[in-house]
This record gives sequence, C-alpha cells and structure tokens, in this order.
Amino acid sequence: MDKIIRIALDGPSGSGKSTIAKRLSSKLNILYLDTGAMYRATALKAIALGIDTLDEKGVSTFIDDINLEIKYIDGTQHTFLDGEDVSERIREPHVSMAASNISSLKCVRLKMVDMQRKIASQMSCVLDGRDIGSYVLPNADYKFYITASTDVRADRRFKELTLKGHKVDFEELKQEIEQRDYNDKTRDFSPLKKAEDAIEIDTSYMNIEQVIGKVLSYIEK
Ligand code: C5P
Repeated sequence: MDKIIRIALDGPSGSGKSTIAKRLSSKLNILYLDTGAMYRATALKAIALGIDTLDEKGVSTFIDDINLEIKYIDGTQHTFLDGEDVSERIREPHVSMAASNISSLKCVRLKMVDMQRKIASQMSCVLDGRDIGSYVLPNADYKFYITASTDVRADRRFKELTLKGHKVDFEELKQEIEQRDYNDKTRDFSPLKKAEDAIEIDTSYMNIEQVIGKVLSYIEK
C-alpha cells in the first residue's frame, strides 16, 4: 500500500486556503476536507434550535449526538445535517459569524477534531482550517500557514459573495473578517496559530498558480 500523506493548510479567513486545498487535492488525487464547513453546519444546527452560538451549556445539549456527515459526490465535499445537504446554506453570510462563535466552544472543538482525525486516518488528504497543523494533525507530513493582508482577504470575500448574488458592504465585511481573526486567535482552546514547523506563504500578491507552484515545490522536494 502506498504511504498515506497528510497535508495541513491553516490560516485566517479569506487567505485562499480552500482554493489551494481544492487544487492540491485534485492534482495529487487525494481527499480534501474543508473543516470550516463542519463548524458552519454546527452553527446552523444551533440556529435551527434557537440556541445562542456562544451558549456552551445549550450547545452541549446537542453536540454529542449531532447528525453531521461529510460525503463526497463526484469528488466534491457535501455537508449533510440531519440528512439534508446544507452545503449551500452554510455559505450564507450570517453563518460565518455564527460559525466563528460556536467554534470557540471546547465541546464543539473536541467533537469536530475527533471527526476530523477519524476521516484523516483513513486516506491521504489535505485538510484546511485553523488548527490542523498545530492540534488536529500535529504529525502531518506537510504544514502550510497561508496568510494575506486584511484588505486583500476582504476584497476576495467581497467578490466571492457578490458573484453569488449577495448584497454585501465592503467595510462591514472587512470588520467581520477582523472580528473573526480576533476570535480565532484569542480563543482559549486550540486557537488559530502557525505551527512551529509550518511553512508560511503570504498570498497577498500571488496568483493561485504561483501559490500552487510554491506549495508543490515543497511537497515534491
Ligand atoms: O474556513 P471557514 O471560514 O469556512 O470557517 C468558518 C469558521 O469556523 C471560522 O471563522 C473559524 O472560526 C472556524 N474554524 C475553526 N477551526 C477550523 C476551521 C474553521 O475554528 N479548523
């Protein structure tokens, strides 16, 4: 059997991780797990139940039994909550902040990390998130920390949401990104941080081909 390889891609919102992860997974023919989708689906569950996404006691009433499944259809990740494909709904702008809030809860992180490790133990994969290299897969074969300036990240998110037909205000979006960065970096349990052995790539002034080329240059070494 070929050796299983695991690649960790971490970094703040909008740094380009998911685009890079998708391209890498198809180039290397390995699985891509978008871990943010799992926190987003958990937030959706809390919203549906009318539970505040920062209420650890409330969230702990459903987290252990959450019916959250990751399935791959034609090679693309689909996220199912209670049997429903919520892959589109979790991308709605209001879910981003709710996911950021709920991801700060220890009971949520323990459950999600457990699921992520199980998936990653089965096959070669690239995981994108905030704590993959530092906590979820400390022994990953390759670790990258992807960054970009706040303006560039807000601009990317603005274009992505506008293209999908959402009406969004650039300044509000930028503030939300700053707030999510703050939440991710300052939470007590498993915050966003660069693993000591991760390679940092600032994508602010790079196009996707350049970034992929750089990442692959490390992997193919
Ligand atoms: O990556 P994405 O923006 O979809 O993630 C949604 C939220 O989930 C992030 O704002 C972050 O707070 C949280 N998250 C996390 N750890 C991960 C992935 C996402 O805390 N591994």
